Amino acid sequence: MTPHIDNARLADGRLVRLSLKAGRIDAIVPMEHAPAATSAALDLHGQLVLPLLFDGHLHLDKTLLGLPWMPHAAGPSRESRIDTELHLMPHLPLSTAERAGHLIRACAAHGTGTLRTHVDVEPRNGLKALEGVLQARADHRQWMNIQIVAFPQTGVMRSPGTLALLDAAVAAGADLVGGIDPCEIDADPKGQLDGIFAIAERRGVGVDIHLHEGGELGLFSIREICQRTRALGMQGKVTISHGFSLGHVPESRARASATLMSDAGVHLLTHGAASHPLPPLALLREHGVTVFAGNDNVRDIWSPYGTGDALERASIIGWRADWRTDAQMLDAFDLVTASAARAMGLPFEGIAVGAAASFFVVDAGSVAQALGAHPVRRMVVREGVVLAHNGVVCEGGPRPLGELVRAT
Ligand SMILES: [Zn+2]
Repeated sequence: MTPHIDNARLADGRLVRLSLKAGRIDAIVPMEHAPAATSAALDLHGQLVLPLLFDGHLHLDKTLLGLPWMPHAAGPSRESRIDTELHLMPHLPLSTAERAGHLIRACAAHGTGTLRTHVDVEPRNGLKALEGVLQARADHRQWMNIQIVAFPQTGVMRSPGTLALLDAAVAAGADLVGGIDPCEIDADPKGQLDGIFAIAERRGVGVDIHLHEGGELGLFSIREICQRTRALGMQGKVTISHGFSLGHVPESRARASATLMSDAGVHLLTHGAASHPLPPLALLREHGVTVFAGNDNVRDIWSPYGTGDALERASIIGWRADWRTDAQMLDAFDLVTASAARAMGLPFEGIAVGAAASFFVVDAGSVAQALGAHPVRRMVVREGVVLAHNGVVCEGGPRPLGELVRAT
């Protein structure tokens, strides 16, 4: 039996019947033209149906979700956070796979269907964190599409053996090679960038670099990244995560970097960090840079905040950017939908005939309203399977929508 979803409001305001078949959207018919349903129908009474979200930057291996609350223990510096993590993480009572699973399901319950996670790869723990996240990814295939970045949290050149580990991580299943502050952490931008780009080229994968470096130093690293991206023909496969420097410098300097990034097809990921001015997102978009968003740290040693909600994250970024019109709020929504998919090298199907039946339902009359209030997700469906209701994963696990419709 084909389950119907009646009175679903689409982003363009239309009230429609969605008919699903084999996990895909088989038909979209305006309600005024929909014949009386011959098979079971679920009535959404005009609630908004939006495509599943993309979270472009998380740290599944670091989260403390699933554990009792732990007060923030690290000092205010990056070094202190790295040290605190190296001391605390090995003694947690839940495994990496278990904690990562909690965060994956939390993201899914908020309507995220695809995420990119950075995973620590460093000499003291080798590939242990990666193995845990690979396990969590395998356990949650029905829940989430997951890209993994092998992330050299403790540096590359200053932590001997890290390059070989990054290479091994990609061989073991990581999808991209990471990097971190090649000047500030390694004091060897050429060494780090040549090293990680060589792995990416050899293995045929993308690069996603954490770049916290400020001001002109950060702009220098951006130039070095863009130059290597072009030289190796890796346009469209490289992301700069954070790029705080773009928010530190005068607009003319940011504009020059935006042109470089656009020409090199280098994307910018932002999570709207409270600790730095926001990069000029509108300017970057105007220059053709693909800007996308992610939650970054969700309740871990680095930050006690976060829920894994990508819609809330886009809302925070829109608020920080002072985007108030509906058109600007759609731009904020784009950071976790179409632009994120493009940056991650994935198709964005939206809500369309033939697309996967992957969507969430919210009490809102428009995308802007949903973004502004990020209300509880009434229902989350992935490929025709219901994953969550009212922000909570389904008791007893995912359930085909057809079963649910017949039960109502
Ligand atoms: Zn990060």
